[in-house]
Amino acid sequence: MQPGDTQADLVIVGAGMVGSALALALKDSGLDILLVDGGPLDVAPFAADAPFEPRVSALSMASQRILQRLGAWDGIAARRASPYAEMRVWDGAGTGQIHFSAASVHAEVLGHIVENRVIQDSLLEPLRDSAVGLLPGLRLEQLRRSGDDWLLTLSDGRRLRTPLVVAADGALSAVRRLAGCETREWDYLHHAIVTSVRCAEPHRATAWQRFTDEGPLAFLPLDRQGDDHWCSIVWSTTPAHAERLMALDDTAFRAALGDAFERRLGEVLEADPRLCIPLRQRHAKRYVEPGLALIGDAAHTIHPLAGQGVNLGFLDAAVLAEVLLRARARGEPLADPRVLARFERRRMPYNLAMMAAMEGFERLFQSDALPLRWLRNAGLKRMERLPGAKAVFVRQALGLSGDLPELARA
Ligand SMILES: Cc1cc2nc3c(=O)[nH]c(=O)nc-3n(C[C@H](O)[C@H](O)[C@H](O)COP(=O)(O)OP(=O)(O)OC[C@H]3O[C@@H](n4cnc5c(N)ncnc54)[C@H](O)[C@@H]3O)c2cc1C
Repeated sequence: MQPGDTQADLVIVGAGMVGSALALALKDSGLDILLVDGGPLDVAPFAADAPFEPRVSALSMASQRILQRLGAWDGIAARRASPYAEMRVWDGAGTGQIHFSAASVHAEVLGHIVENRVIQDSLLEPLRDSAVGLLPGLRLEQLRRSGDDWLLTLSDGRRLRTPLVVAADGALSAVRRLAGCETREWDYLHHAIVTSVRCAEPHRATAWQRFTDEGPLAFLPLDRQGDDHWCSIVWSTTPAHAERLMALDDTAFRAALGDAFERRLGEVLEADPRLCIPLRQRHAKRYVEPGLALIGDAAHTIHPLAGQGVNLGFLDAAVLAEVLLRARARGEPLADPRVLARFERRRMPYNLAMMAAMEGFERLFQSDALPLRWLRNAGLKRMERLPGAKAVFVRQALGLSGDLPELARA
């Protein structure tokens, strides 16, 4: 170790929603933890009448439980969270439709739509009062093995030395690239346009999704000071169509959006500025290497059509924390590949199954082929008549199926 190097038991790179959740889950472990992020990690003052942030997440019940246990949910509820109790999905090119409700599984809500900024700030608040060492405004630039440790060089030249690195640095993970972790990736040939819009009719605490010929269009309910006419939209479409939509003026965009949504909530009266995000599926071939684990978008990115990305990430964080805490209680070295493999074994099959399901959905609804159109319409109608099958789907959406970590259990 050179003079000036900082030693830690664990370095988490990336203090986004997933990296922050992991740091909070381990904050009382007695481990010396450093959390590095290229951003400022400021908590923005919140105004209840502020415009909505364009990036939102549909948080499952499992994510809500994890955030409650981590002490972040109170901050979310005190800012802004919009519960939804119903979901309506239909095929724009046919008559198939399906309706899901929380009541069908004796739950009060299916989930909450929350702005990413609100989730992030509510995680950072308890973190700032904890023993976790925050290193804001510093990017990871180099990573190499040095004996049994990793040596990380940050953008100000500072060097960190640790036996265990967790990559939570998002879809374009520098850790993943620098450590040479391989991924499987492919383009969805979709861009997502996101913004918030005000509709003539109230959203009825319902998440709406129409499958158009170009891709899925979601209207997710938002609440601001009792006003239930706002929705967050995620419009996934071909890159060429997205380019045309981004070029439209406000009036023409609202009209095109109203047409694409069949005006189920009446006219679109207002629209905030739009963001356009290219969508790409990525999955790391391994989530762990000796002394290294990948979580959240650094391990996998998934089509937003089912709103699962950060929900999978929170489950990764909760499972990894559980595995590390148990290993520490038994006196096992945390960087041991046998310890880290327990995390991969619990998370990879679940994430792969979710990604395969989304991929199947996306292809089925993308296709113009007549047999596939028939299949999806017949499938939607059949499922609508099978309460048992719908209940399985609803439990999946709540995130309450599979091998749940303690943090996500009732
Ligand atoms: C259009 C759209 C809609 C979505 N809707 C939903 C939804 O409804 N529900 C849902 O669950 N998910 C949704 N997702 C997915 C969700 O947004 C992501 O899964 C989630 O943001 C991933 O969080 P993360 O913390 O893993 O990564 P990120 O949010 O990308 O955070 C990564 C962090 O790492 C930091 N960082 C990056 N590089 C470095 C570096 N070199 N050094 C230091 N720090 C670094 C960044 O500053 C950042 O803070 C959606 C995604 C899209 C595109």
